[in-house]
Amino acid sequence: MIYGMKIYVQTDIEGVAGLTFFENMADQSFENAQHRQRMRRLLTREVNAAVTAAFESGAAEVVVNDSHGSGYNILFEELDPRCEIIHGRNCSGPHWLPEFDKTYDALVLVGMHAMAGTANAIVSHSLWEVNDGAIYLSEASMAAALAGVRGVPTVFASGDDKICAELRDKIPSIHSVAVKKGLGAYQARSLMPARACELIAQGVREAIKGRARIAPYRIPGPLRLNLLDSPTHVPPFKRVMEQSVVADDMETAFTRAVRQFPWNKFDTSLPDGFKYP
Ligand SMILES: [Zn+2]
Repeated sequence: MIYGMKIYVQTDIEGVAGLTFFENMADQSFENAQHRQRMRRLLTREVNAAVTAAFESGAAEVVVNDSHGSGYNILFEELDPRCEIIHGRNCSGPHWLPEFDKTYDALVLVGMHAMAGTANAIVSHSLWEVNDGAIYLSEASMAAALAGVRGVPTVFASGDDKICAELRDKIPSIHSVAVKKGLGAYQARSLMPARACELIAQGVREAIKGRARIAPYRIPGPLRLNLLDSPTHVPPFKRVMEQSVVADDMETAFTRAVRQFPWNKFDTSLPDGFKYP
């Protein structure tokens, strides 16, 4: 075992076993509140399976980023007490992969969903367009590309079968676990949560053990970047920015892009105005 390893676990909720619908934040019904809490529990267990496996594989430090929506989804009191979690939202600056840097040994992705427009993928949304369509990235592969800028390999991913296929295509030696098979946008054939957690733990252990064989995912610059999406996340998609941003590397391009998105208001005076959820 290698000691002193640092593992970063990036999470989203749409890719966990059992989830088939977009989170509905407007529905105040008891049924919906219960449903959302249930999905959070499923996410929590999958994240915990990855965290525990990372520690079993010799990690000294495991940091979880609660990245979906409000950034306040994981029932962190149920996580392995050895890990630490980043949660909440900071509107004073871009907040993807906070604190992630080149000192991490590997990036692990849990609960990932496919890019917008993927057929038979569960609640697919957001589509990064690189070099006018030469490459398309999901949120998951964008995270991998940002880790790649810092020379850190993305060694593991879980989610539906479509996001796993995309990541295997881009990072051939990545370890992936498809916890559900998308039969349509909102219908899946899913593993039972306990089995999903078992496979995630096994996958993370193997991925960390073999991480030296997994190259960081790098997209060489200079590059042009834009984001495609639509309010309902179904085609036709439109470019979010009139003009694609141009930069020497993905990190710079990404930061410039998110600063331009109309839904992001950064650098405002305190308090920053974020409302939960
Ligand atoms: Zn999400």
